[in-house]
Amino acid sequence: MIYTASFFAPENHVGEVYSIAERQPRGFGLPRLDLFRPGNLLDWWVCPKSIYPCKSAAYGLPPDLYMKQLERRRPYIGMWLRELWSGITLCCWEADPFDCHRKWAAEFLRKRLGCEVTVR
Ligand SMILES: [Zn+2]
Repeated sequence: MIYTASFFAPENHVGEVYSIAERQPRGFGLPRLDLFRPGNLLDWWVCPKSIYPCKSAAYGLPPDLYMKQLERRRPYIGMWLRELWSGITLCCWEADPFDCHRKWAAEFLRKRLGCEVTVR
Protein backbone atom coordinates (compact mmCIF):
# COMPACT_ATOMS: atom_id res chain seq x y z
CA MET A 1 0.00 0.00 0.00
CA ILE A 2 1.14 3.49 -0.83
CA TYR A 3 -0.12 6.45 1.17
CA THR A 4 -0.02 10.14 0.49
CA ALA A 5 -0.12 12.83 3.16
CA SER A 6 0.79 16.35 4.09
CA PHE A 7 4.18 16.97 5.67
CA PHE A 8 2.24 18.46 8.56
CA ALA A 9 0.03 15.47 9.34
CA PRO A 10 2.44 12.97 10.90
CA GLU A 11 -0.52 10.94 12.11
CA ASN A 12 -1.03 10.01 8.44
CA HIS A 13 2.56 8.94 7.82
CA VAL A 14 2.97 5.21 7.34
CA GLY A 15 6.24 3.36 6.89
CA GLU A 16 9.05 5.19 5.17
CA VAL A 17 8.19 8.79 4.40
CA TYR A 18 9.36 10.52 1.23
CA SER A 19 9.06 14.06 -0.06
CA ILE A 20 7.55 14.40 -3.53
CA ALA A 21 7.62 18.20 -3.35
CA GLU A 22 10.12 20.56 -4.90
CA ARG A 23 11.09 21.74 -1.45
CA GLN A 24 10.27 20.55 2.01
CA PRO A 25 9.71 22.37 5.27
CA ARG A 26 12.82 23.52 7.06
CA GLY A 27 14.24 20.85 9.29
CA PHE A 28 12.35 17.92 7.77
CA GLY A 29 15.22 16.34 5.85
CA LEU A 30 13.10 13.60 4.29
CA PRO A 31 14.50 11.55 1.44
CA ARG A 32 13.29 12.95 -1.88
CA LEU A 33 11.48 10.88 -4.42
CA ASP A 34 12.13 12.88 -7.56
CA LEU A 35 9.96 10.67 -9.78
CA PHE A 36 6.84 12.49 -8.57
CA ARG A 37 8.19 16.01 -8.31
CA PRO A 38 6.32 18.48 -10.49
CA GLY A 39 9.53 20.13 -11.67
CA ASN A 40 9.09 22.96 -14.12
CA LEU A 41 5.30 22.50 -14.08
CA LEU A 42 5.50 24.68 -11.00
CA ASP A 43 5.88 27.59 -13.39
CA TRP A 44 2.25 27.09 -14.32
CA TRP A 45 1.19 27.43 -10.75
CA VAL A 46 2.30 31.00 -10.24
CA CYS A 47 -0.51 33.51 -10.55
CA PRO A 48 0.21 35.55 -13.69
CA LYS A 49 -0.83 38.83 -12.07
CA SER A 50 0.99 38.34 -8.82
CA ILE A 51 4.59 38.06 -7.78
CA TYR A 52 3.40 35.67 -5.09
CA PRO A 53 2.59 32.04 -5.71
CA CYS A 54 -1.06 31.10 -5.51
CA LYS A 55 -2.21 30.36 -1.99
CA SER A 56 -2.75 26.79 -2.93
CA ALA A 57 -0.05 26.19 -5.45
CA ALA A 58 -1.21 22.89 -6.92
CA TYR A 59 -4.80 23.99 -7.41
CA GLY A 60 -3.99 25.24 -10.88
CA LEU A 61 -1.76 22.35 -11.87
CA PRO A 62 -2.71 21.19 -15.34
CA PRO A 63 -3.25 17.52 -14.54
CA ASP A 64 -2.82 16.44 -18.15
CA LEU A 65 0.70 17.88 -18.26
CA TYR A 66 1.61 16.30 -14.95
CA MET A 67 0.17 12.96 -16.10
CA LYS A 68 2.22 13.16 -19.31
CA GLN A 69 5.31 13.85 -17.24
CA LEU A 70 4.59 10.81 -15.07
CA GLU A 71 3.91 8.73 -18.17
CA ARG A 72 7.40 9.56 -19.47
CA ARG A 73 8.81 8.47 -16.12
CA ARG A 74 6.68 5.32 -16.00
CA PRO A 75 9.51 2.84 -16.65
CA TYR A 76 11.44 4.30 -13.75
CA ILE A 77 8.38 4.46 -11.52
CA GLY A 78 7.77 0.80 -12.35
CA MET A 79 11.34 -0.08 -11.37
CA TRP A 80 10.94 1.81 -8.14
CA LEU A 81 7.68 -0.02 -7.39
CA ARG A 82 9.31 -3.41 -7.82
CA GLU A 83 11.76 -2.56 -5.07
CA LEU A 84 9.02 -1.56 -2.63
CA TRP A 85 8.33 -4.12 0.02
CA SER A 86 6.18 -2.29 2.56
CA GLY A 87 3.92 0.69 3.05
CA ILE A 88 5.38 4.07 2.35
CA THR A 89 4.05 7.62 2.38
CA LEU A 90 4.53 10.27 -0.30
CA CYS A 91 4.40 13.74 1.23
CA CYS A 92 3.74 17.22 -0.01
CA TRP A 93 2.69 20.54 1.47
CA GLU A 94 -1.02 21.10 1.24
CA ALA A 95 -3.30 19.95 4.04
CA ASP A 96 -6.08 19.02 1.61
CA PRO A 97 -5.03 16.55 -1.09
CA PHE A 98 -7.52 18.21 -3.42
CA ASP A 99 -5.14 21.18 -3.54
CA CYS A 100 -2.03 19.07 -4.04
CA HIS A 101 -0.33 17.23 -6.86
CA ARG A 102 -0.27 14.11 -4.72
CA LYS A 103 -3.85 13.35 -5.74
CA TRP A 104 -2.69 13.15 -9.36
CA ALA A 105 0.32 11.06 -8.44
CA ALA A 106 -2.06 8.69 -6.65
CA GLU A 107 -4.38 8.55 -9.65
CA PHE A 108 -1.46 7.73 -11.92
CA LEU A 109 -0.25 4.95 -9.61
CA ARG A 110 -3.75 3.47 -9.47
CA LYS A 111 -4.77 3.73 -13.10
CA ARG A 112 -1.49 3.18 -14.89
CA LEU A 113 0.31 0.82 -12.56
CA GLY A 114 -2.51 -0.89 -10.65
CA CYS A 115 -1.29 0.21 -7.22
CA GLU A 116 -3.38 0.49 -4.11
CA VAL A 117 -3.08 4.06 -2.89
CA THR A 118 -4.70 5.78 0.05
CA VAL A 119 -4.83 9.55 -0.36
CA ARG A 120 -4.88 11.52 2.86
ZN1 LIG B 1 1.73 18.78 -3.87
